[in-house]
Amino acid sequence: MKFLNVVTVAEALKAAATIAPPAVSEFVRVEQSAGRVLSATISADSDIPGFDRSIVDGYAVRSSDTTGASDAAPALLVTAGRVTMGTGGTNIGIREGQCAYIPTGGVLPEGADAAVMVEYTEEAGDIVLIKKPVSHGENVLLHDEDFKKGEPVLLTGRRLSPQDAGVLAACGYDLVPVAKKPVVGIVSTGNELVPVNGRPVAGQVRDANASMLAAWLGEYGCIPKLYGIVKDEREAFEKVIATALPECDLVLLSGGSSKDDRDMTAGVIAGKGEVLVHGIAIAPGKPTIIGRIAGKPVFGLPGHPASAFVVLIAIVRPLIDTMLGLENPRLRTLNATLVENIPSQRGREEYVRVRVKEGMATPIFGKSGLLNTLVKSDGLVRIPAGYEGLEKGSAVEVILW
Ligand code: AMP
Ligand code: MG
Repeated sequence: MKFLNVVTVAEALKAAATIAPPAVSEFVRVEQSAGRVLSATISADSDIPGFDRSIVDGYAVRSSDTTGASDAAPALLVTAGRVTMGTGGTNIGIREGQCAYIPTGGVLPEGADAAVMVEYTEEAGDIVLIKKPVSHGENVLLHDEDFKKGEPVLLTGRRLSPQDAGVLAACGYDLVPVAKKPVVGIVSTGNELVPVNGRPVAGQVRDANASMLAAWLGEYGCIPKLYGIVKDEREAFEKVIATALPECDLVLLSGGSSKDDRDMTAGVIAGKGEVLVHGIAIAPGKPTIIGRIAGKPVFGLPGHPASAFVVLIAIVRPLIDTMLGLENPRLRTLNATLVENIPSQRGREEYVRVRVKEGMATPIFGKSGLLNTLVKSDGLVRIPAGYEGLEKGSAVEVILW
């Protein structure tokens, strides 16, 4: 076994950043924009709502006419008409002593500056009894109160929510500029691997990594593309890389990333392109490769599923964030208190699986080859390289699966 030339996580991330392809923009329909990353800052095309409107069913009034109004001594106002919905040019004008019926969302008539809820009024022929005073602007939304024309409404790099789709629609964006989903090729390597629907015999295991990586990438906003299993043979590696590279923006190979004689990944990447990093001070996940072929990033991830997953979120994810133009990428996290000490080696960044219940995080110490720890745990606690472990009772942030 030859030794890896291990670099820090920070150095690995820096290397990955230098080969990250920039985000490419495309348009999607607004109703399909949730989950996508906005690729331009969106500004309001006009004042929104665009006209002063009532936010209650009731009467549009001049607030000064309602001063001191009460149940016992209501203000008596004369109706000047009824506001109808969806018509802008209301010809009702409210003069002193007058009011007009107005539904929620109706245009506030000229002269009115507030609305009284219908619950505090009583109609008596042409007269309306107002039993509660309102102040200037009460129950009214001003024409530019939601957004002013030209005001930035949503900033570039934001992952859009369903609510954002509503705001975009209100601003007139039927098509929304978003980052194109990166196509990520996934290759599983190893003579011992059999497909998911295969039956492993002694010495064989099913390919768990491809499904795990694809599932995560799909959720994160990429298009995963599976290239199956290749044997630990140089020609097989070269062939699959030659197929995947033109079809993908990024290629991930799992397994074969160490320096054993069977480990092909580094040699093949070096032969066709360049290896920037081979070995990262991260646990699990030390035998990781960051390389580039024909201008495209190619990663070699460790074969152990837990290791591959840690490297995916700690090392590959920041590069994908760049490809998506994602600002403030937020992982799903939870604050918890550690119930046991976690020892760690200074000088390497460690990710420990934990189970979380009622705010308490229990570490699950398991070998990275064990799949059951991925199921039994709720997420990972990161121990930075400068720490010699974490003490029982520490506040930790759990990166949820
Ligand atoms: P390697 O990184 O190729 O040395 O593999 C390390 C360990 O991970 C070995 O026990 C492999 O059998 C296992 N492994 C490699 N690839 C996969 C995979 N796709 N799914 C499940 N286990 C794997
Ligand atoms: Mg292998």
